[in-house]
Amino acid sequence: MTARLLEGKVFAAKIREEAGKKAAEIKEKYGVTPGLAVIIVGENPASQVYVRNKHKACTELGFYSEGVEMPENTTREELLAEISRLNNDPKIHGILVQLPLPKALQPYESEVLEAIDPLKDVDGFHPVNVGRLVTGQKALVPCTPHGCIRMLELADIPMEGAKAVVIGRSNIVGKPMLHLLLGRNATVTICHSRTKNLAEVVKDADIVVAAVGKPRFVTADMIKPGATVIDVGINRIAPKKLVGDVDFEAVKEVAGAITPVPGGVGLLTIAMLMQNTVDAAELQLSK
Ligand code: NAD
Repeated sequence: MTARLLEGKVFAAKIREEAGKKAAEIKEKYGVTPGLAVIIVGENPASQVYVRNKHKACTELGFYSEGVEMPENTTREELLAEISRLNNDPKIHGILVQLPLPKALQPYESEVLEAIDPLKDVDGFHPVNVGRLVTGQKALVPCTPHGCIRMLELADIPMEGAKAVVIGRSNIVGKPMLHLLLGRNATVTICHSRTKNLAEVVKDADIVVAAVGKPRFVTADMIKPGATVIDVGINRIAPKKLVGDVDFEAVKEVAGAITPVPGGVGLLTIAMLMQNTVDAAELQLSK
């Protein structure tokens, strides 16, 4: 059996189209263009690429976009002051602080993320948004798991009553994924580094989400025939070779549907950031 390929570009295009439509509705209703500000501190080359891609996505959808570049030696006070300025700027509906912060600012990471107005928190990392997600309220949800759940919906993968296993319990991927699946009435199990008999637990799942950060960790013998396998992992195993957390070549012969790496979940994250920005704009404007 060869699995249905869930290609990120197909779903990312759909999510961008939805975000563009919603932005047009907001413009029509309130006369406002959704705006995103991305703060980058220091000169991490990988972060600079992400920030450029985010700006490009904003421009393509006609959003207002502001890149705030701050030097490596920025102080906690200067960064908090910049966040406060953006919290009070009506042109800005979404604020994102690109992580990781330079070493000297890392002890203040939680304080920095909590300084963002929860209504502008398009990364969904603020405890208010985490709490809202956990309690089943409307929330801004971290982009990667939000993209995964939207892809499952758009691909018509049944979630209600399905057994789902999420491997990984990070605050950015694993935990929000658990709550998103629960919100779609799946029966969800979360596995992590201390889980016993992980292979047996995964083998029982109709939907597997792998967010471990270990190359080809999920093997074909762990997968129930016909299951849907979502691979969030991005692992560089050679200078020009990226692989996921799933042994794609073997698992695609057993699974019913599978995301590739590269070309899968990674493409959904920025599309979802655009969606979160219009959602944030709507939340603020409807107040
Ligand atoms: P993380 O390191 O914060 O968390 C990894 C999780 O895996 C932990 O909860 C840990 O308990 C679990 N784990 C580690 N070893 C395990 C084992 N042997 N058995 C079971 N569980 C184990 O990572 P993260 O930020 O959640 O990211 C996970 C992967 O997803 C990484 O490869 C990362 O690069 C990728 N990622 C991709 C995107 C994207 O846009 N596609 C976004 C975020 C993260």
